[in-house]
Amino acid sequence: MSAENSTKERPSYALALTRVQGIELVSPSFVRVTFGGPDLDEFGTEGDIFDARIKIIFPPTPQAIPAIDRESDDWWGSFLAIPEEERGSMRTYSVRELHVAEEGTEVVVDFVLHLEPGRTGPASTWASTVQVGQPVFIVGPRRGIPSSEHGGAEYAPGAARSVLLAGDETAAPAIARILEDAPRDLRGAAFIEVPTASDILSIQAPPGIEVTWLPRAAEAEHGSSLIPAVLGYLGGADAAVEVRDLEGEELLWETADYSGLGEPIAAAPASVDRYFWIAGESGVVTTLRRHLVKDLGIDRAQVAFMGYWRRGVAMRG
Ligand SMILES: Cc1cc2nc3c(=O)[nH]c(=O)nc-3n(C[C@H](O)[C@H](O)[C@H](O)COP(=O)(O)OP(=O)(O)OC[C@H]3O[C@@H](n4cnc5c(N)ncnc54)[C@H](O)[C@@H]3O)c2cc1C
Repeated sequence: MSAENSTKERPSYALALTRVQGIELVSPSFVRVTFGGPDLDEFGTEGDIFDARIKIIFPPTPQAIPAIDRESDDWWGSFLAIPEEERGSMRTYSVRELHVAEEGTEVVVDFVLHLEPGRTGPASTWASTVQVGQPVFIVGPRRGIPSSEHGGAEYAPGAARSVLLAGDETAAPAIARILEDAPRDLRGAAFIEVPTASDILSIQAPPGIEVTWLPRAAEAEHGSSLIPAVLGYLGGADAAVEVRDLEGEELLWETADYSGLGEPIAAAPASVDRYFWIAGESGVVTTLRRHLVKDLGIDRAQVAFMGYWRRGVAMRG
């Protein structure tokens, strides 16, 4: 969601001023926040949600409402015109649940609390102190617009009936949503690395999907459990792999029809029956990408590799 999406025609996504309606600490590392308010009646997806993403604007102080011109189709320009210290910080999140009902629409988001000194940020800080009633702007898909026009969901298995989903705690909400929306006859596996064993949450996955939760060892780096588990499952030998990062690059973002690395993309062969969706810390995803594509020869058209955040780097809108 950027300036180029926000001119002339009505944007395919909506800006909603919401209020926090519910807060639940579902585990030591996840806080589940429910947002409501009349503006959310503009939100919705045609069909399943899968890994649809939204943008949340965390205000500079808990009760502040940045002076964004909500009526304008160019609200993005109006947001950017506000001095940085007054407009707050925008970050990307997944929709864990979307409740559309006559009495109003609610959006539920699972926030990871990463609160180690020097490794936290405005979103995590907000989530750790949030109170019911606080105002927050959310940007999300506009109801009635086909999902293909939002550009907000990447999960696209096509005709594949078997999937491998893998990610760290930031990808856990998207993996859960994908598995709860997926057809019940989907087969495959999901690997989810989380900070502690107490962060294992309930997912209503199709019975043919084996969900493996991977609590990290104390003090261990992201990827230390996920990389060996995924490579072991796929038969890629070397379990002790060094995490690679794309120095000086943006987050890794490669899907079946987009390559942030600018690589050519071939259409998936009709016979492809397996789809790979991997998200989380960018260096970890980059490491897995290298092994899957280069060492195991997995077709680029069968994959989505997405850096959801990057170690040591604060995200921006
Ligand atoms: C499509 C998409 C969907 C996402 N969905 C979710 C979701 O549903 N739930 C969720 O919690 N996150 C999700 N994320 C990730 C989230 O946007 C980032 O973690 C974001 O950086 C958090 O912002 P912040 O203000 O807390 O930290 P930032 O200000 O961005 O970063 C500050 C510091 O914190 C570090 N950091 C950021 N995230 C983490 C982390 N998880 N663990 C440890 N250190 C971290 C950074 O490396 C940096 O050093 C998603 C990201 C994308 C792109």
